[in-house]
Amino acid sequence: MKTSLKTKVGRRRFLAATVVSTSGALAVAVDKKPITQASVPGDPSAPEEQAGTVPSSPPFDAPIQFTRQEAPLRVKPFALTQVRLLPSAFLDAQEANRSLLHRYSADRLLHNFRVNAGLPSSAEPLGGWEKPDCELRGHFVGHYLSACALMHAATGDAELKSKAQYMVGELAKCQERLGGGYLSAFPVELFTRLNNRKHVWAPFYTYHKILAGMLDVHEHCGNAQALTVAEGMARWVDQWTAAVSPEHMQMVLDEEFGGMNEALYNLSAFTANPQYASVGDRFTKKRFFNPLALRQDRLRGLHTNTHIPQVIGAARRYELSSDRRFYEVADAFWTEVAETRTYVTGGTSNNEGWLTDPNHLAEELTRGTDSNECCCVYNMLKLTRKLYTWSGDPRLFDYYERILYNHRLGTIDTSNGHTQYYLGVVPGSWRTFATEDGSFWCCTGTGVEEYSKLADSIYFTDGKDSLYVNLLIPSELNWAERGIRIRQTNQFPVRPETHIEIEGQTPPTFTLHIRIPSWVQTQASVFINDKESEVSAAGGSYLVLQRRWHPGDVVRVTFPMQVQVERMPDDPKLQAFLYGPLVLAARISATKVPESFVVGRQGPDFKKQGPAAVPTLHAKDKAPESWKRVSEEHLQFEGARSESRWSLVPFHSIGAGERYTFYWKVV
Ligand SMILES: [Zn+2]
Repeated sequence: MKTSLKTKVGRRRFLAATVVSTSGALAVAVDKKPITQASVPGDPSAPEEQAGTVPSSPPFDAPIQFTRQEAPLRVKPFALTQVRLLPSAFLDAQEANRSLLHRYSADRLLHNFRVNAGLPSSAEPLGGWEKPDCELRGHFVGHYLSACALMHAATGDAELKSKAQYMVGELAKCQERLGGGYLSAFPVELFTRLNNRKHVWAPFYTYHKILAGMLDVHEHCGNAQALTVAEGMARWVDQWTAAVSPEHMQMVLDEEFGGMNEALYNLSAFTANPQYASVGDRFTKKRFFNPLALRQDRLRGLHTNTHIPQVIGAARRYELSSDRRFYEVADAFWTEVAETRTYVTGGTSNNEGWLTDPNHLAEELTRGTDSNECCCVYNMLKLTRKLYTWSGDPRLFDYYERILYNHRLGTIDTSNGHTQYYLGVVPGSWRTFATEDGSFWCCTGTGVEEYSKLADSIYFTDGKDSLYVNLLIPSELNWAERGIRIRQTNQFPVRPETHIEIEGQTPPTFTLHIRIPSWVQTQASVFINDKESEVSAAGGSYLVLQRRWHPGDVVRVTFPMQVQVERMPDDPKLQAFLYGPLVLAARISATKVPESFVVGRQGPDFKKQGPAAVPTLHAKDKAPESWKRVSEEHLQFEGARSESRWSLVPFHSIGAGERYTFYWKVV
């Protein structure tokens, strides 16, 4: 989440400044410079915008006219209500998040909205970015509505549904009181400042979260009032954006606005009202989309998570209208980020931006230590899922799976549901976590959504007779349209296999597509009812089993796993090791970082704890085969040479405050 402070104020220092403020105003300097792209001018580690020329024939300079003409999808996910997680680390993460959602008080969450609407509230205000004087207040409430709705769909949790519906009803009262459809926890004056190019912190970003939350409660809880509230909010946006010239609107879009375009496209789809999509089109940031539509990487200097949600919006726009310009934006962006700007963990961003040209990840690490903002991977997963439904390409799930195991598992503390902000990449980093009610960062918001919908991408269908199994997450699928139930169980990744059992009343005929990940370098073996099948498939493709199934049939697939090496593109001596999709890491210090540098911190602070040298491995150790798994029951690897001091474990198993590395210098 980008601050637009024009002084050199890092995120942690910004937070400290707001904490000490007693006057109700932000205790930071504000100037009148126009809002620009880079997050913190004057900070040598801040993104530096890429110089260059404007593309010769900008595709988005042509008229943008919305006409609904839906693009064909090759595959679509099952509804969250049709999939249930079974015991695994993913279920643990979901349940930790569910407990957290239950613990939050609806009235505390509503406090700032009621105060802003002039309605009584005696609730204790929340802290962090939900403090009553924080300009982003209310953003987490939108995330919270989405999370409750998704969690209800994923688990059937009726209490969270009731809580979300209560909050929608109370927020509707606030909207009524505020008038004109406007709904926010801060006054409309923040939007006036945005319009006047005065300093303000991303009011449309927060507005998007609330709008999206309403749409999620409508979609997953069947709540009609939420849709009515959302339409009121959108009508206000229509009026606000219609009152500014298109040229001025392009300048307004320099300030982070989340996925306003996506939410308005979704609202248009729900209501079959094209006007909302036309309002969404006003959030087309042309100088960002134009190069992408020409498949040019001009991402250097951009704030990462300001832009990913805009591309999700572009993807949704393509789906609804078949306008290829938007397809190119989404596809080109994904390709650049996933293939040239992603660390081994699947994460992206440094100091919240892209600081270098593509394929300069080692150089990125010399520029700063605040790497891998968690909300970026949340949004990249959303985008990947969309691209997959267009192509059905299983290789997209190599990326998806990498993020799930290394950047979603581990970034939630399953003892309390608290989540991370930055996931440190620099050797010697350690995990830091939010507090219960004093953080509410951007990544806290995407966190409560993420761990409410871990079941949403395991199974897909072509809508006819094909079932696609993309992830090895223990779960049950109720394919009600076909009267079929699927039960997937395994001990993956401790044991490299999965079991898929067919349940149901009548023997169905359908085609089972099981994704063979690209990390499978030798043959995957398939057994049907313990009898080995001759069917095979290479890594990065689907194993296809078409037959008349019988209730009780069990398919067992084994996936040979081995340690593999991945090198930094601009420094091949900087290497990481993986076991299947798992990044392997080592604890490099016997003592943990003190809790005061862990809890409530957005990331590791090397100024306080000191840097750690990149551990060096000698050439004999660098070969992947020199790492041997030492236990059948656990994932632990040791170097072949007895004097090797390092022990590798899955990165996600490294706990809070433990200093680690997953990149090594190999000499
Ligand atoms: Zn974030």
